[in-house]
Amino acid sequence: SNIPKIVILGAGYGGILTALRLQKELNYNEADVTLVNKHDYHYITTHLHMPAAGTDNPENARVNISKLIDEFKIDFVKSTVIQIRPQDRKVILEDGTLSYDYLVIGLGGEPETFGIPGLSDYAMNIRSINSVRLIREHIEYQFARYKREPHRTDYLTFVVGGAGFTGIEFVGELSDRLPQLCKQFDVDPTLVKLYNIEAAPTALPGFDSELVEYAMQVLTKKGVTFRIGTAIKECKPDGVVVGEGEEIKSATVIWTGGIRGNRLIEEAGIETMRGRVKVDEHLRVPGMDNIYVLGDNSLVFGPEGRPYPPTAQIAMQQGVTCAHNLVASIRNQPLKAFAFSNKGTVASLGKGEAIGIAFGKKYKGRTAAWLKKLIDLRYLFIIGGIPLVLRKGKFF
Ligand code: FAD
Ligand code: NAD
Repeated sequence: SNIPKIVILGAGYGGILTALRLQKELNYNEADVTLVNKHDYHYITTHLHMPAAGTDNPENARVNISKLIDEFKIDFVKSTVIQIRPQDRKVILEDGTLSYDYLVIGLGGEPETFGIPGLSDYAMNIRSINSVRLIREHIEYQFARYKREPHRTDYLTFVVGGAGFTGIEFVGELSDRLPQLCKQFDVDPTLVKLYNIEAAPTALPGFDSELVEYAMQVLTKKGVTFRIGTAIKECKPDGVVVGEGEEIKSATVIWTGGIRGNRLIEEAGIETMRGRVKVDEHLRVPGMDNIYVLGDNSLVFGPEGRPYPPTAQIAMQQGVTCAHNLVASIRNQPLKAFAFSNKGTVASLGKGEAIGIAFGKKYKGRTAAWLKKLIDLRYLFIIGGIPLVLRKGKFF
């Protein structure tokens, strides 16, 4: 048929928002839309630090895609993309091939290890439902192991590499969880150590210094040991090497030291910087008018000439613009330039504690924690309306 084919890769923040907008804006038979995702569920990445630490159930961080999209309007394909072929306008899946006229790449980022030896082999990452289940089970297992080998106090040392927002939110949760595990397993809490190791001269580099100081105070009080200005140089099966060769023995290393774009993009012959595509003002790959790139795989520069940090917030806004531009292309109407509207940043520090900047104001403590909850509920509402808010929202 002559109906244009739109293929969306990845049902993350960018992909889901694109799909939801397309299903609303496209008229009957105006385009064939296919959404491809590795799993038949969308995960709420911004909640993953909780199931990773074991303070929440992984079920609460995932939503079936069939509950979000209208399958009479969008074809959902559960499969893993293994190759993108712009020259043939095809995408190769593990179990088939798709042709497209327009492609949207929203596959999310990958952990950036900066070539640090051992990290990809021995460290775990907070990036999917499956990866956080592994972290949660692994941490519990260390307590069980310790009870059989009480001389191995290294089983009770937990290392988090990188004190960006992911690292900070995770140690906030884990410092809530560790005392519970100590009770459950009858372990002396003074034997448990939780390190957050950061190479930069401060935690949360670039963020408001007063709020960073507040966060470090709260977390230190909860038992986190910060090693700031200390780079992880190597990861081994039995710990990490930091700074000038000091070893920290640990059976648990969680790497939150940064993310890069998905390797499939550079493998497709598309130019990237650390895996990310510097998209044009309409969110397309320069020189490839039919390929849009969203979220953690895209690089968008602000007016000061610096790239915006990759967040769910920007990915969602990109999804809206991308859908608009796809519809406009099909109708031969002018495209819209993407303009990021920054609503702020709020990060959790565990139960009842958070820091953030929103509406040009600083927040900390309980108020910030409420704000974080509101942002979470707002997201559920945007993608799934009131029913999803009631099913997955937490109101306590
Ligand atoms: P993602 O949401 O990562 O989704 C990518 C999708 O593609 C996934 O469904 C994945 O399964 C799928 N996929 C990947 N590879 C393949 C493949 N080969 N084939 C098929 N499917 C594939 N940002 C904020 O703005 N606010 C926050 O509070 C916040 N908190 C965060 C907390 C944590 C713990 C973390 C880790 C991140 C947080 N972020 C936050 C950042 C935010 O989650 C990311 O920027 C956002 O998820 C990026 O969205 P995306 O659409 O690019 O991709
Ligand atoms: P990041 O890149 O923001 O932070 C990684 C940190 O690791 C940096 O502080 C870096 O200096 C440090 N690091 C790098 N190499 C190191 C080494 N060898 N040893 C020790 N430390 C090292 O990554 P992230 O925290 O995963 O965040 C990714 C994106 O997601 C960001 O844009 C962030 O804003 C966003 N995010 C937002 C929230 C929120 O808004 N609540 C939460 C999580 C993530």
